[in-house]
Amino acid sequence: MEPKVWDYNECALCCVKIPAMTLCYVTKPDQPYFLLCDSCYESQITPKLAQ
Ligand SMILES: [Zn+2]
Repeated sequence: MEPKVWDYNECALCCVKIPAMTLCYVTKPDQPYFLLCDSCYESQITPKLAQ
């Protein structure tokens, strides 16, 4: 995944609204698309990357 600034979207996990110009995370183009907020990325993805 990579950090991006998004116009408007919602997190795939907690469905929080992510307003414009807020840091969030989307999957890279070669992966199935989904978007996570910063806190879900930290809690769900970062631990897996550390394994
Ligand atoms: Zn979230």
